[in-house]
Amino acid sequence: MLNPLTILLVTVLSGAMAMAVLGSLWRAAIPGVGCWIVANVCAIVALLAFASQGHASRWLTFVAANGLLALALLLVLEGALRFLGRNTRPWCAYAGLVALLAAIGYWTFVAPNFNARVTVVSAYHAVLYAELFVLMMGGRPEHRPRYSYYFIATVALLLGAGHASRGILYGFGLIAQTDLMQVTPSNIVFLAVGVLAPPFLSIGVVMLAHDRLAERLERLANVDDLTGALSRRAFLQIGGALLNASLRSGSPVALAIVDIDSFKSVNDTHGHAAGDEVLGHFSAFVARELRVGDVFGRLGGEEFGVLCPATSVAEAVVLLERLRARLAASAPGVLPRGLRYTFSVGVDQHRRGESLEQLMSRADRALYAAKAAGRNRVMAA
Ligand code: GH3
Ligand code: MG
Ligand code: MG
Repeated sequence: MLNPLTILLVTVLSGAMAMAVLGSLWRAAIPGVGCWIVANVCAIVALLAFASQGHASRWLTFVAANGLLALALLLVLEGALRFLGRNTRPWCAYAGLVALLAAIGYWTFVAPNFNARVTVVSAYHAVLYAELFVLMMGGRPEHRPRYSYYFIATVALLLGAGHASRGILYGFGLIAQTDLMQVTPSNIVFLAVGVLAPPFLSIGVVMLAHDRLAERLERLANVDDLTGALSRRAFLQIGGALLNASLRSGSPVALAIVDIDSFKSVNDTHGHAAGDEVLGHFSAFVARELRVGDVFGRLGGEEFGVLCPATSVAEAVVLLERLRARLAASAPGVLPRGLRYTFSVGVDQHRRGESLEQLMSRADRALYAAKAAGRNRVMAA
């Protein structure tokens, strides 16, 4: 029973299921999800309006139905823009929608022309799909997996191509048809491809939203809340991988363990909140000064680790000594509450065959030596 009406009604049901899934993501407050939910509602109402062609007014079944379906796609696009943090409304597309409605009205009531209507509607959809394609191909944050972005891009590409060819075939009069519910092979094929849009796009945006949730969890596990440095867990994991890579390439890796001096007295004298501010300041300061590729993590309390790839122990001492001198030379205005603080460092270089933990314990011994020698200094093991 492959007729236009069944195709439309099956899509309405799949849209209702997509609503349930998108609804479950509402409370996660992911940018764009609100747009995608409204888009789904618009698509469902539009499909029901299309399905009632011949039984309801042409305002509803032609103008409103086409307008709502186009609005649904526009909202998918706007949701994607918001998801990617681009909070600009696609005003051109909204203006295009108004023009589209005027054109549909004209070719419905003033000079009825089925092919002209199909052509402008398809052209509008094709342009929006092209925009969605470009957005998904170029908008993916570098560190996120490609899968969901490329899934939507592929869907947009195929549906955009479908609309473009439909527009061309109807625009040049290569297909003669008088109403949407006609059971002709070409109509069935185009409708069948077209109604894949809502479920496929819904699946795609749900994948995007889940990736955002995964990103949040990864961040919670890998990034220390207070300082923004890597968590101890992530530092050990990334550090282990870095040591393995350096073994293969044969280049040295240096490790520095950095501990803020007399930090307990900061807490005792100025309060725990001031201590937290010092930790935040220190972390931002180090992150700014390190080189691309250096790995920086909070090992616990006021103790941090810095792994420097392609760096000998002597070079690491120079790097950390420079940091120490820069912090000491900071103007009081840039220090948290004007508090001057110092740090001590123990440095060593990775030896073939040893684990990160073994390297850390040697750097730790160097750190203790730096403390014992009076603090505010960098010492190699
Ligand atoms: P040293 O120069 O020998 O390193 O002395 P220290 O006072 O820096 O070291 P100690 O280990 O005696 O004290 C570290 C203090 O750091 C104790 C602990 O309460 C405090 N601390 C640990 N984590 C945090 C934190 O997240 N925030 C704040 N404000 N303090 C913390
Ligand atoms: Mg300390
Ligand atoms: Mg300590």
